[in-house]
Amino acid sequence: MADLTDRFGTMTFSEDVMKRRLPKDVYKKLAATIEEGEPLDLDVANAVAHAMKEWALEHGATHYAHWFQPLSGITSEKHDSFLEPVGDGTAITKFTGKALIQGEPDASSFPNGGLRATFEARGYTVWDATSPAFIKDEVLCIPTAFCSYNGEALDKKTPLLRSMKVLDTQAKRVLALFGKHPKRVVPNAGYEQEYFLIKKDAYRRRRDLVICGRTLFGAPPCKGQELEEHYFGAIRPSVSGYMKDLDDELWALGIPAKTKHNEVAPCQHELAPVYAELNEATDNNMLTMEKMKLIASRHDLTCLLHEKPFEGINGSGKHDNWSLSADGENLLDPGDTPLENLQFVVFLTAVIEAVDKYQELLRMSVASCGNDHRLGANEAPPAIISIFLGDQLTEVVQKIMDGKASVHATHGVLDLGADVLPNLEQDNTDRNRTSPFAFTGNKFEFRAVGSEANPSDSSLVLDTAVAEALMEFADALEGTPEDAFADAALEYCKKTLNEHRRILFSGDGYSDEWQAEAERRGLANLRTTADALPAMVSPESIALWERMGVLSETEAFSRYEVKLEKYNKLMNIEATTMIREARRTYRPQITAYATKVAKGLEIIHAAGADAAMQCEKNTLNKLCAGITEINDSIKALDEIHVKAEALIDSQEQATCYAHEVAPAMERLRAAVDAMEEIVAADYWPVPTYDDILFYV
Ligand code: ADP
Ligand code: MG
Repeated sequence: MADLTDRFGTMTFSEDVMKRRLPKDVYKKLAATIEEGEPLDLDVANAVAHAMKEWALEHGATHYAHWFQPLSGITSEKHDSFLEPVGDGTAITKFTGKALIQGEPDASSFPNGGLRATFEARGYTVWDATSPAFIKDEVLCIPTAFCSYNGEALDKKTPLLRSMKVLDTQAKRVLALFGKHPKRVVPNAGYEQEYFLIKKDAYRRRRDLVICGRTLFGAPPCKGQELEEHYFGAIRPSVSGYMKDLDDELWALGIPAKTKHNEVAPCQHELAPVYAELNEATDNNMLTMEKMKLIASRHDLTCLLHEKPFEGINGSGKHDNWSLSADGENLLDPGDTPLENLQFVVFLTAVIEAVDKYQELLRMSVASCGNDHRLGANEAPPAIISIFLGDQLTEVVQKIMDGKASVHATHGVLDLGADVLPNLEQDNTDRNRTSPFAFTGNKFEFRAVGSEANPSDSSLVLDTAVAEALMEFADALEGTPEDAFADAALEYCKKTLNEHRRILFSGDGYSDEWQAEAERRGLANLRTTADALPAMVSPESIALWERMGVLSETEAFSRYEVKLEKYNKLMNIEATTMIREARRTYRPQITAYATKVAKGLEIIHAAGADAAMQCEKNTLNKLCAGITEINDSIKALDEIHVKAEALIDSQEQATCYAHEVAPAMERLRAAVDAMEEIVAADYWPVPTYDDILFYV
């Protein structure tokens, strides 16, 4: 087998490959496009396309595809072959600069939230040179953005790139005040990905898993995660084989998969890559999720990316580790010289302000049908957004808020009275796992993101909100005389931190007291997707999107509409699946078992035995009562589901699903689950949690 390093990036058209394969002047022009956003001319595109094609053919590719991320949240691709017949029965290969730069998928079936009527369905895809092309399954995939003909974004990537641009602009303005002029400021992201792996056979036999990605029924297993024997435990061979395969494929794609381990819940695992620039990290995460699912089937396993596949067992998240770097300098690194500290405090203040001001929008960004089962459950962050800073940083912030920090008179540098900041690294270990948004040494970790989500949704909000906070800082301080800048900056931070102090919370985010305390502080607690989504288009949010040039009002509304539609469709599918499964799978078997018990009683009596058989009679009564409750619950769910489906307004429909249909689903589930505990095992129609989660 090739050396470990040789296995990395073999299937990506990386910077290194470009350097080696492109003529120098072409490479230079392309690098200017990638690094500084210079427009690309057709000659350069033609040269790049040619080199890309040659490279792809050498690596076994037969097709190329514009790879993009429509609003549905997944990735899309349509493959075109490189072959071009020449008319004499032979063919040549062809790939032009035009085909590289722009594509025209017939996009009428992608969700657009009313942005495009079907008669103008042809959106187009545009090459995103900042994320490398790669070969996947003999197809050269070119990362692209997807827009309508009048330039409206129809995908997740376009606004993400816009948000990165505005963040770059505003962060540079702030850094200029510190006398720094970096070429580029970029957000970095490291997305830790949690997932479940179960036996394919068990999966196949659970229609709820196949259709909805989560179990809609299932009594608690005899053993859950209470022994904490799975977390970081030895990895079972079948899973280890899968993980090796996955690493190999990800490495070939240039995805720096770094850490893998067993998670807390049985059958749950995690993969963390080394962080990368936000746009690329996001593409990599989308690819990672795809590979996770595909590779599982080769190992007779199924990968579940749903946020809550099993009730009562930990769900899966995707921690969004986010930081900002300026030509390699991490702006969220506290550093160890006081002047750097002031700069750090300014960026820290911007994040705190952004998160408090747009807490509802951030909550919105992680809202999904699946994540509703996770947020607020006792193993995931609550639906309330708050920030954890750790002891030492809290102390620093407190001093600034109290006016106890000052700028040293002679050096003009920040004086906190104690040398606390340089030791912050040690605070790394001081983790508060219950916080949705935690400072972890030199980055923030947003833990409320769902495992299945396209993580650009949350990063987009973070970028944009932080960009606005930085813009306000720059607006306020530009023009300040140099010798007064440090004082003025500190004063600005003091005022801003005091205005947003309610978002800081170090306690137990899972506790009931926090719910009450958060309410007193006026923090939002948006429990369901239906409650959270309106924040996408609140007047404050629209003002933010438009002011920062990240989304137009129309684009924001279209995204809101797409999210609502998706939620409603998923809830509809779940409710329908539940009713059908209860009627056709569970009830017949429970009735069959009740009949068997009744017949048994009859036969025993007929044989003249005069034993009381009280236990069997009790079971029969419970079964009959259970069947009645199942019938009543089906009826109740059916009725409310019909009502929800008839609602025309999609927000009203979502609200009905979240607050009326969901409780009716819970009632039906409880009725069926209660029977699972008394029906004989060989009558139970599907694998139970015990069967699924503790396979050998
Ligand atoms: P933990 O589980 O303790 O949070 P992991 O090692 O599982 O830590 O994951 C940490 C993630 O944070 C990794 O993906 C890592 O690359 C990423 N990360 C580390 N430093 C930064 C940074 N400066 N900016 C963004 N992400 C970072
Ligand atoms: Mg982790």
